[in-house]
Amino acid sequence: MRKPKIVVLGAGYGGLMTVTRLQKQLSHDEADIVLINKNDYHYETTWLHEASAGTLHHDRVRYDISEVINRSKVNFVQATVEDIKTEEKKVFTSEGEVEYDYLVIALGAVSETFGIKGLHEHAFMIANINSARQIREHIEYQFATYKNEEEKKDERLTIIVGGAGFTGIEFLGELGNRVPELCKEYDVDPKKVRIVCVEAAPMILPGFDPELVKYARAKLEKKGIEFSIGTPLKEAKADSVIISKGEDEVEEIKAGTIVWAAGVRGNPVIEKAGIENMRARVKVEKDLRAPGHDNIFIIGDCSLMINEEIDRPYPPTAQIAMQQGEVCANNIISLLKGNDEGLTAFTPDIKGTVCSLGEDDAIGLVYGKKLMGTKASFMKKVVDNRALHMIGGTSLVFKKGKFKFF
Ligand code: FAD
Ligand code: NAD
Repeated sequence: MRKPKIVVLGAGYGGLMTVTRLQKQLSHDEADIVLINKNDYHYETTWLHEASAGTLHHDRVRYDISEVINRSKVNFVQATVEDIKTEEKKVFTSEGEVEYDYLVIALGAVSETFGIKGLHEHAFMIANINSARQIREHIEYQFATYKNEEEKKDERLTIIVGGAGFTGIEFLGELGNRVPELCKEYDVDPKKVRIVCVEAAPMILPGFDPELVKYARAKLEKKGIEFSIGTPLKEAKADSVIISKGEDEVEEIKAGTIVWAAGVRGNPVIEKAGIENMRARVKVEKDLRAPGHDNIFIIGDCSLMINEEIDRPYPPTAQIAMQQGEVCANNIISLLKGNDEGLTAFTPDIKGTVCSLGEDDAIGLVYGKKLMGTKASFMKKVVDNRALHMIGGTSLVFKKGKFKFF
């Protein structure tokens, strides 16, 4: 008898949690498991701000997928997913077509540009290993070029960060530590460097605990970071950004580096596949299946779930993607066993949020308790190591974990 075929798209937090749980619970003759991912490595999306700033080498942020999958049970295909034809139960990739009986879409997010002019052309996005490496190298290039040009252009040393959500703030925290190192390395006067964060909302980290936000802003300002609050970025150009300072007033800030970190949308493959979505995210059923598609599960940043307590979507996080991966694997196993009625309803178990402000500083709300400084920073590293442990066990924690606590 033909074995049912489970195809998992994306080896991020959601995809790898699903596959590692499936390989543990299913025997060879129960199903064929196929994992498709663009690269032969997984990267910790949650550490990309560090690789982008250059405070952590990009190789520390990634590991080979072969380290965590059981090759005798999982067929790994390195390919880019281009489309899905749900009526034919087929995935189209750069390396050919793949048929499925059960599909898990865990392709993560892309940056949301809200149609703002010039962002795709002139801004960098903290999106993956390649973009992180490019941001780090570009900033270094600006420092090197500044020192080597006859007529000094100080604006070359200005870095604009668009968005003061968690990604923007974590990146600023790293820059606050990295820029003094770069100044030493390239013999640049630190007073020549400007780091400006442009935020549309009236505060940084909108909606987060005000006391913690105040602490974060003060600590970042102490590192020389400037905030332009309530001033949405309207346009990016080759060497500047235009920000709005009221109804008719705009300001142009000259800069050598523009990094856009102002939100995400789901993977464009979702839109191409014609699955009903909102900004490429699918409002999934409680059992994580796409409405109207009994054999398709959508998890992680491609999924959207409403927090009924506040009637707003849960923010897309690794914490939720990993929890969904576990439930998704269990629900597929239930379906394989013909137990269609026994699917588990997914409820996020939010343990907290910790936002790093650089190597040794952070803020956090964990189980309702406020944390700041080294305690929060310690907690952030515990969270980072826990994610490694859940997918690759103790050996992966020893290989890739963060142990410099103070
Ligand atoms: P991902 O983990 O991003 O994985 C998607 C995978 O799909 C990747 O391997 C990618 O290469 C692959 N892929 C994409 N497109 C294709 C394609 N077409 N074909 C084949 N493969 C493809 N969340 C937290 O909970 N805590 C944090 O501290 C935190 N920090 C963050 C810091 C930063 C800088 C950023 C950017 C995000 C952070 N997040 C954090 C959010 C978190 O990273 C995401 O919610 C999480 O990565 C989503 O998991 P996922 O499995 O959906 O996607
Ligand atoms: P976000 O949506 O959380 O924040 C985006 C920020 O950009 C907002 O403050 C918004 O007001 C601002 N913005 C939007 N348009 C703008 C404009 N035109 N000009 C200036 N500012 C503008 O997005 P994010 O920070 O990219 O985070 C994405 C997801 O990843 C979120 O769900 C977040 O919770 C998660 N994340 C979590 C952590 C953590 O837990 N430590 C870290 C990073 C990201």
